[in-house]
Amino acid sequence: MSRIFNFSAGPAVLPEEVLARAGDEMLDWRGSGMCVMEMSHRGKEFMSIAAEAEKDLRDLLAVPANYKVLFLQGGATLQFAQIPLNLLAGKTKADYVVTGEWSKKALKEAQAYCDVHIAASSEDKSFSYAPMDWNVRPDTAYVHYCSNETIGGVEFHSIPKIEKIPLIADASSHILSRPLEVSKFGLIYAGAQKNIGPAGLTIVIVREDLTGKASKGTPSVMDYKQQAAADSMLNTPATYAMYIAGLVFKWLKTQGGLAEIEKRNIAKAQLLYDCLDKSGFYKNSINPKDRSRMNVPFTLKDASMDEAFLKGAQQRGMVQLKGHRSLGGMRASIYNAMPLAGVQQLVVYMKEFEAKHG
Ligand SMILES: *Cc1c(COP(=O)(O)O)cnc(C)c1O
Repeated sequence: MSRIFNFSAGPAVLPEEVLARAGDEMLDWRGSGMCVMEMSHRGKEFMSIAAEAEKDLRDLLAVPANYKVLFLQGGATLQFAQIPLNLLAGKTKADYVVTGEWSKKALKEAQAYCDVHIAASSEDKSFSYAPMDWNVRPDTAYVHYCSNETIGGVEFHSIPKIEKIPLIADASSHILSRPLEVSKFGLIYAGAQKNIGPAGLTIVIVREDLTGKASKGTPSVMDYKQQAAADSMLNTPATYAMYIAGLVFKWLKTQGGLAEIEKRNIAKAQLLYDCLDKSGFYKNSINPKDRSRMNVPFTLKDASMDEAFLKGAQQRGMVQLKGHRSLGGMRASIYNAMPLAGVQQLVVYMKEFEAKHG
């Protein structure tokens, strides 16, 4: 068996220990004689898997008791609609901060449901920074932002101060990469396939008092209140994805929790950004203090060398470094499960490539 270093933005690398454990438990989950995929979601075995996953996630993020943790489907993209459907609560306005591709998509989807206002935007500088000065309407139902732009590589390293109005974050690509003050938010959501587990699972953490006011016509599976009342099992949930996510939560705990994982993520990101900044060959154009620790886009001095760069990386066991089609260039996603050794190997290769072609 040989494992490569996978720098994909998502679906992305998972901890080897988690995959090995899932392999060991594939045919017989802990004496049940069944694979988790074969279990009834109402049976005691799966109910215990789901309850433990929720408990471990709550422990990791220190989720306050007045927040519900939901394990839903439809990806982060469904949340773009589900949020206005649930949180407008009779109001007609919602404010959005625009910092790149994902926040633009969230805003566009919300336009079908309400009067949308851009509270802040970094478009003036090609989405290269995290604007902290927001102009939020006092009668808006909520304000939404993307706390880590997966494509552009911009991360909010502090939580914008918003008073009284619920703050909503799309944290898909950096949730669990660092401790998070959940109480500052009305709702946090994340598709699982970046930093949690398999695609098909979406985590929503929502302040309980914001639920129960869904617009008329909201499908019941999209109503946070109904899902919370049913422990996210209003219908059959993404059982196997929940099980793997649960194993990832346990893995994070054994690594020392989010404070420890954050240290490692800082070290990995620093190594890569140092390499970029010290070279005259590679370039990352994000404002240094707003650079993402998870998604690191960069360009080569000459785009005609992109193919050769990617080919050489592949030959050395490093894949999925091609940048998003909308930006070109390269992107290294270095989520929790990417070991330091992967980033070290990438940096060695980058220096080698620069020496040869620079
Ligand atoms: C990947 C991603 C999405 C979309 O997730 P889906 O699960 O494909 O719907 C939304 N927001 C951010 C920040 C992402 O990284």
